[in-house]
Amino acid sequence: MKVSQTIDSVREKVKDARKQGKTIGLVPTMGALHEGHISLVEAARKKCDFVVVSIFVNPTQFGPAEDFDKYPRPIEDDLKKCEQAGVDLVFNPSPNEMYPEKVITWVNVEKITENLCGSSRPGHFRGVTTVCSKLFNIVTPDMAFFGQKDAQQSIVIKRMVADLNMPLEIVVCPIIREENGLAMSSRNKYLSEQEKEDASYIYKSLQKCMEMIDSGSRETETLINEMRTILKAKKSIKVEYISIVDEKTLENIDKIQGKSLAAIAVRIGSTRLIDNFPIDIT
Ligand code: AMP
Repeated sequence: MKVSQTIDSVREKVKDARKQGKTIGLVPTMGALHEGHISLVEAARKKCDFVVVSIFVNPTQFGPAEDFDKYPRPIEDDLKKCEQAGVDLVFNPSPNEMYPEKVITWVNVEKITENLCGSSRPGHFRGVTTVCSKLFNIVTPDMAFFGQKDAQQSIVIKRMVADLNMPLEIVVCPIIREENGLAMSSRNKYLSEQEKEDASYIYKSLQKCMEMIDSGSRETETLINEMRTILKAKKSIKVEYISIVDEKTLENIDKIQGKSLAAIAVRIGSTRLIDNFPIDIT
């Protein structure tokens, strides 16, 4: 496995791989890798010949009061995990390599970045779409792999790629969970054992919502109230949003029909956690 810290070095290695006729798969991450990230690497290995993982804690997607400074950066451990997973190249640039100057050129997707996480994290998706555009330009992947865990992010990236005719395919992979149902996340490292236990109620509430939909419930207000009641059982959980939205517009809907998304964001202490499940009753 090769490790590059510079853009020039990545371009050179990707060029070599292309010369050998290899297809390129990119897995963008912020590191502190867990089984969720590794599942994306495995999907990339199945579909592409040369797998690049980027590890970059992207400053432009964090708000001023967010956890950019304390975000975990266990790079040695991450490199070992990438090596074990069969990654070909890790791109681990410094902030200065990615942003040598103050950013004045942004890629911004409108409307679908306003609801859900967009409303509590202003500027977050503009940072995500800008860094992903840069990574796509640097690595020139045939396919890039994202997790359903960050459902809004995947939808936004897909829309950006379509709107700007970027020549790659976006593949979205399922959520990998802890045994208690908690969606794996680098931010789970911030949680105490008790908080992890409490956090399992996020998935419990989503499961209840799924069950109710299976038994014919369609009113989103009823479903959201039920999820809120389940989360209320844990005093440590502060709900940021519980929403059921149209899968394409990400706007709140009153009644479930076709493809939609149930999504939750909570805080436990100062840790922000998100989870979701796609609903398809077509
Ligand atoms: P992050 O390092 O948190 O920016 O995540 C990098 C990629 O891994 C994103 O596409 C995430 O959606 C994906 N990811 C994070 N957690 C999980 C998970 N539990 N299951 C599947 N994919 C995940």
